[in-house]
Order: sequence, then structure tokens, then C-alpha cells
Amino acid sequence: MRFDQYSLIPQIKENLSKKGLKKPTDIQFKSIPHILKGEDVLAIAQTGTGKTAAFAIPVIHKIHLLKMKKRASGVRCLIMVPTRELCIQITDVFNDIGKKTKVITRSIFGGVEQDTQISTLNKGVDIVVATPGRMFDLISQGYLKLDKLEILVLDEADQMLDRGFYDDIKALQRHIPKRRQTLFFSATIDEKIKRLAYSLVVNPIRIQISPKNPVARNVDHSIVKVKMDDKRFFLERFIKENDESKTLVFVRTKVRAERVQKAMKRVQIEALTLHGDKNQNERILTLEKFKKGEVNILIATDVSARGIDIPNVEYVINYDIPEQADSYVHRVGRTGRGRSKGKAISFVSKEENELLYAIEEYTGDKIKEIKINLEDYQDTIDFTEDTSQSWQALIKEHDRVEDNLKKIHNKRVKQKINKNKKKR
Ligand code: AMP
Repeated sequence: MRFDQYSLIPQIKENLSKKGLKKPTDIQFKSIPHILKGEDVLAIAQTGTGKTAAFAIPVIHKIHLLKMKKRASGVRCLIMVPTRELCIQITDVFNDIGKKTKVITRSIFGGVEQDTQISTLNKGVDIVVATPGRMFDLISQGYLKLDKLEILVLDEADQMLDRGFYDDIKALQRHIPKRRQTLFFSATIDEKIKRLAYSLVVNPIRIQISPKNPVARNVDHSIVKVKMDDKRFFLERFIKENDESKTLVFVRTKVRAERVQKAMKRVQIEALTLHGDKNQNERILTLEKFKKGEVNILIATDVSARGIDIPNVEYVINYDIPEQADSYVHRVGRTGRGRSKGKAISFVSKEENELLYAIEEYTGDKIKEIKINLEDYQDTIDFTEDTSQSWQALIKEHDRVEDNLKKIHNKRVKQKINKNKKKR
């Protein structure tokens, strides 16, 4: 079935067609009819499956019709998300699909002045996409009223719980009507998420996309066994051999993100970083540059890159193996989005073998290994333009020689003293 066969308002059909979206993805096919009917939905679907449009299309359709019927004012739909990036991204999708409709979608998130957001709310907004902190600030100050809410969407619920928003989601229920439609999306599921989900939905339609293997099907996965200290040489070589490709590199910590960026800079590779120490404006700017392809390499930590949708990321490199197996799913979900193909390559050091096994157990699939013979491995090290490496080696060698000379000198002095003692 194609989108033009759906019973949707013509503006949405036109906007989808302009975006080049003709046929629904699996999650869209399974959820749109139910959401249109007003049913609650509980969906297990990872990013990259087209899940934003799966709720954006029916929600915009319904709110547009509602506004046509009556002069509805007040927020009708709230979409709660874990991160600011996701907030901006979802708002963009809504505004794209909702062009020329009566529906106004705006985002609310922290880290920026609240005044602009307040004046936007005062002008009248139908759909609010929000992160919990700022949302509660504005509710408690009386700027955001949710008493007319008809649809609640929770996106990336598992990330919300990871970020400690469980109590916030529960608290939200005090501010919204009991009678409403709830759409609950999560990439992964466990007991806690289930409990939360069932406390929010009523007789939901349950949708699960690729239940056994949560990893996007159109991503080709592989691992390379590399010593921890040699990872940067492999990254350098990879980037230089694929310099036209948009590549997202994941590291474990903020400090490592900066370090890897510096190491790349030393070998004339320009890379951007995205992590928790960057302020909101820097993050937005970084994502823009990467999206536009002004810089093709983005080095990011898990949390900062959750849920972000960047078109045409060809490669995800796991420079560090994630400590949580489900993070692997989120990371590789940044490539192979929609219907495009992607590749994920993980650099696994000896110390990270256990983490790799945990991922394989979680996804239910053994990840193929790209074997590197010794000669190729050495070639990669030799390939580096990083002269700091040879300087370091020289300095080490120099220190070693100095040490030896000192030892020899001390030995000679001792021998001399002993000789003198004997003479006396
Ligand atoms: P999401 O899972 O919402 O983050 O979407 C991932 C990507 O899939 C986005 O870049 C969308 O533009 C793309 N997408 C969404 N729906 C479709 C569709 N029906 N056909 C092709 N691509 C799509």
C-alpha cells in the first residue's frame, strides 16, 4: 500500500511525496491505522525504522481535522523525549509533514533562555515536543497547560528511564486528562519499561518490529580486533580510505572524544565532537555541519547521540565497545536509516571481548570478524602520519639509554669507592 492510498488529508500526502516517502515502513504500516482510530499503541521499535513519521502522520492528520471542526486552542498533543537533539529533530519532522496544515508544532527544551519558548506558547501551539526538565518548569510557572491534551506520545521510553525520568513521567499524569490517547515507543523492553507502559496505556495495540534481532536489518555489521593503543591508527586509515563518507565514531567518554579528535587533527583529519560538555548552541551547530556534510566525521558519546537522525551516515565506527549491550543497538541505528544501507564496524580490543559477547548475546547474532593479517596490521601502523608516535618512541629510547648510562656510572663509582676502601 502506498501513502496516496491512505485516507489522509491531501497536505500530508503532498508533503510526504515531496520528501520522497512513497510507501510506509513496517512500523508505519502497522501503527498508522490504529492511531487514526484513536487506539493506544505500545510499540517496540528502534530508531531508523521510520517511527517518527509513524506517529507524526496520524497525529497531524487528527489535529488538523479537529482544528477544522472547532476553534480548538490549547496544547492537544505532547511528545515527551529524552534529549534536546531528539526534540529538535522530531519538531522538524512534524513541521515538514505538517506544512500547509493548521497544525503548529514547537519544541521546549532546557539549556536555552525560556523567554522565547514562553512567547511561542502564548501565541498558541497545538503540538509540544518537550524534554522533561524544561517542560515541568513551564508547567509549574503556569505557561504550559496540558488540561486539553488529547494525545500523549512517549518516544524512546527506554532512554528516558536510563536518564532517570521515571518519576517525571509518573508525575506528568497529574497534569494531563485521564481520557486521552497514549502512544508509547521504546527501542528495547524490560520489566520496568513494561510496568511504566502499562500504567499509561489502556487496551493498547502492541507492535513489535523485528523482535528477535533489534538491530536494523539493513546494517552490515563487522568487528576488527585491534589493540587499544592502535585504534587511532585504524581510524585514521579508515577515514583516509573513505574520505567521502559520512562517519559517526562512538567513544566511551567525553575525554576520549576530545582525545580522538586531537589525534585525528594531528594527521590532518577534521572531525567534530558531540558530548555532554558542549553547550546547546555548539551542539546544534555541530549537528548542522555534520548534516550538511561540511565535516564528514563526528565523534560522539552515547548519550549525546541518542535518537538523532542524520541522513546518509554511511558508517558507524564503534571506536570503543559500549558497556551496555543496548547502546550498541542505538549506535548502529544511526546508519541504515529508512530504506538506505549502512555499515557498522567495531574496534574490539582484548579488554573488550566480554562486552562484545554481551552484545552478541543481546542481539542474538554473532558479528562477523574482518581478519587482519600481521602484515596489514603493521601497514596500518606504518600508514600513520602521526609523528608524535615516532617522537614518543625516540624519547623513550633516549630515556632508556640515559638510565643505562646512569646505572653504569653508579656502578663504576661504587667500584671505585670499594677499591679505595680496600687500599686503605
Ligand atoms: P526514524 O526512525 O523516525 O528516526 O526515521 C529514520 C529515517 O527514515 C528518517 O531519515 C526518515 O526520513 C526515513 N523514513 C521515514 N519514513 C520513511 C518511508 N516511509 N520511506 C523511506 N524512508 C522513510
